[in-house]
Amino acid sequence: ETFDVMGLHENLLRGIYAYGFEKPSAIQQRGIVPFCKGLDVIQQAQSGTGKTATFCSGILQQLDYNLLDCQALVLAPTRELAQQIEKVMRALGDYLQVKVHACVGGTSVREDQRILQSGVHVVVGTPGRVYDMLRRNALRADRIKIFVLDEADEMLSRGFKDQIYDIFQLLPPAIQVGVFSATMPPEALEITRKFMNKPVKILV
Ligand code: AMP
Repeated sequence: ETFDVMGLHENLLRGIYAYGFEKPSAIQQRGIVPFCKGLDVIQQAQSGTGKTATFCSGILQQLDYNLLDCQALVLAPTRELAQQIEKVMRALGDYLQVKVHACVGGTSVREDQRILQSGVHVVVGTPGRVYDMLRRNALRADRIKIFVLDEADEMLSRGFKDQIYDIFQLLPPAIQVGVFSATMPPEALEITRKFMNKPVKILV
């Protein structure tokens, strides 16, 4: 039960320890390694269990830092949560020089376009703005290899189902999918059935 045995890059470990984490939480102990292997992962856990660091570590471990293309996309139900995830991703990836951008509603579309054009490794956002950026081709989907839905149940109850499906259609077919959700309503199960391949299920 230490982060050291997970096979993480040294500079990712440095970021994790510098952020103040000493030992992995239960969900991190079970979730980080399969996520890092590129497997589809469903984690059913309440917020407060450490799920953010699970998928942030799994993403940061798998990025090709020589490529300044978006390789991972994280969707969250609210602006605040997306920006919170952006902060955690940036902090854990501090020693990897990761470039992260939050694409959320209520901010300048042109500024989003400018930042995306300048090159980022990871985009975290709300479904509406992310879909908008994909449609405008400001966010290029062809190098995205990891797609995470955080608080999937909450996104569905906020009516984002169609937009999530639309986004899936624009992403490359062979993509790693991570679904994080406190509950698994039928619409969330439908997403896991339609878009995931033999997912590892972790219930905390
Ligand atoms: P989350 O469930 O991702 O929203 O995380 C809930 C809280 O737990 C956040 O304040 C995290 O900073 C904290 N946390 C997550 N993982 C760890 C860890 N391994 N050690 C200490 N605190 C953690």
